[in-house]
Amino acid sequence: MGTKDIQVRNVPDPKILNPDDAIVRITSTAICGSDLHLYNGFIPSMEKGDIMGHEFMGEVVEVGRDVKKLKVGDRVVVPFPIACGHCMNCESHLYSVCENSNPNAWMAEKLWGYSPAAIYGYSHMLGGYAGGQAEYARVPYADVGPIKIPDGMPDEQVLFLSDIFPTGYMGADNCNIKRGDTIAVWGCGPVGQFAIKSAFLLGAERVIAIDRFPYRLKMASEQGGAETINYAEVDSVPEALREMTGGRGPDACIDAVGMEAHGMGLIGAYDRAKQAMMLETDRIIALREAILSCRNGGTVSVIGVYGGFVDKFPFGAVVNRSLTIKAGQAHVQHYMKPLLEHIQKGDIDPSFVITHRLNLNDAASGYSTFLNKQDECMKVVLRP
Ligand code: NAD
Ligand code: ZN
Ligand code: ZN
Repeated sequence: MGTKDIQVRNVPDPKILNPDDAIVRITSTAICGSDLHLYNGFIPSMEKGDIMGHEFMGEVVEVGRDVKKLKVGDRVVVPFPIACGHCMNCESHLYSVCENSNPNAWMAEKLWGYSPAAIYGYSHMLGGYAGGQAEYARVPYADVGPIKIPDGMPDEQVLFLSDIFPTGYMGADNCNIKRGDTIAVWGCGPVGQFAIKSAFLLGAERVIAIDRFPYRLKMASEQGGAETINYAEVDSVPEALREMTGGRGPDACIDAVGMEAHGMGLIGAYDRAKQAMMLETDRIIALREAILSCRNGGTVSVIGVYGGFVDKFPFGAVVNRSLTIKAGQAHVQHYMKPLLEHIQKGDIDPSFVITHRLNLNDAASGYSTFLNKQDECMKVVLRP
């Protein structure tokens, strides 16, 4: 309802608005690091009463007359970017930059030049669609996004196909990993954990994970098989990485931190008159370290979310050392099927990140526990 004010309210059930919509009764939904940007008030144009949540799955209870692939009773996981499936970008599998799903494109265009796809429960700048931390959600373009889940697979194994598994995987995929590569990952939150696992799935020989919370570093090493650096305990992360990589630097560096974990975001209230957002710049530590640490000719892959302007960005290093920078909101739809197959084959069980299982009614405590890293919180799943 406002900054750091999550409330559970009775609201009218969503209805089919377009013939290609479906209504999903939600069985599991999760809180994401991206939700913290909203929770902290870093993203403009959330309005009182907006429904949060973009990681959700459930049962189809109603379909519009044009929906062909889904039927009532199907169990589905819903990808977080809302994508039409037939624009130029969707046809290139760049679903998170769909050209049709954001009716409020002007706001994003003012800030970013062009608008990306809309995201469930993620402000009016990104579509104003109701989110999935609810009992029911309306799912537009129902034949394009949701993936059907075979019987017998529990929610917890597949829920993260909605976002953080594909996101971590895209972060690693964008590194163009070759056998034997060393990949460094900043941030051992849920997204970082999946970036680590994915780097190994894609053939990395070593992954070095960086964070300051011992329980998060422990998960990265024990579950993920990564070597770790606690950035609070070393003088310089780039120096530590240089030492660990024979003086050359990691082949690729993944930023799975974003603006949130730096304890800041879009400074100041969003000013509709100025339409301007500024980021405090001196603290973009992870991204700067990633650029400065990467070996010559390597790739910096940014999946942490940045919202406004990032200044004092060491662009000289990018040019003079032939670095490639890749970034984006995850093109979830592109990755869901192959990653479901990885889960079915037993290559990975994504439920390893879940530390908290709460009733939807306890969402407010889930948000504060996750934000404050209380009780060794890694990932909160809510059940309506
Ligand atoms: P999180 O906040 O739980 O994790 C961030 C982690 O980064 C924390 O463990 C924190 O201690 C660590 N960190 C902070 N400063 C650091 C530094 N200087 N060096 C190393 N580690 C540092 O959140 P999460 O759910 O893991 O999400 C991480 C980021 O990914 C967020 O910005 C989120 O918005 C973004 N995200 C992006 C996409 C996408 O499609 N690109 C999808 C989901 C989430
Ligand atoms: Zn998310
Ligand atoms: Zn599209």
